[in-house]
Amino acid sequence: MQLDKDQAKKFYEAFLDDTNPIQPHEEIIIQNILRTKTSQSGWRFKKGIHCIGCKKELTVLDLVLSSFDRHSPEDLREFLDTKTFNEGAVIAYAGDDEVPKVQIFNHRLMIRCTSCGEENESANLTGCDYYTYRRPPLAGLLVSVSQTCFDRLMVAAKD
Ligand SMILES: [Zn+2]
Repeated sequence: MQLDKDQAKKFYEAFLDDTNPIQPHEEIIIQNILRTKTSQSGWRFKKGIHCIGCKKELTVLDLVLSSFDRHSPEDLREFLDTKTFNEGAVIAYAGDDEVPKVQIFNHRLMIRCTSCGEENESANLTGCDYYTYRRPPLAGLLVSVSQTCFDRLMVAAKD
């Protein structure tokens, strides 16, 4: 589905409501691990995902640290500092000065809790209901969501 500018604006507002921003201490940790001075301040991750182990709400930091299971810090830094986008994504909105590019990308997600170490995995490949985040500023202001999350946010955007 392609969004026009008005729809994209409403979608983005719904997305902001549905996500928590990175915390300042998390930004410093991530910058240190990635050995970069690039600000990570645009990074957000879905609200209300609680660890199945300790019930802590999972954060951007949990998401980033979990990604090192599959990617080295060098890979991740390169990913963040360039405009490389995931292949196979559907672009719902190309992006402009007000609304970031919106990409739909169905992806299984495992997030290891930094408090208790429990692995929190999305239910299935195509219906992942918490694949929702925004990548930091340098990388083309990208919002990335699963189809399930996209549909849910579009309903929220109409209210
Ligand atoms: Zn936990």
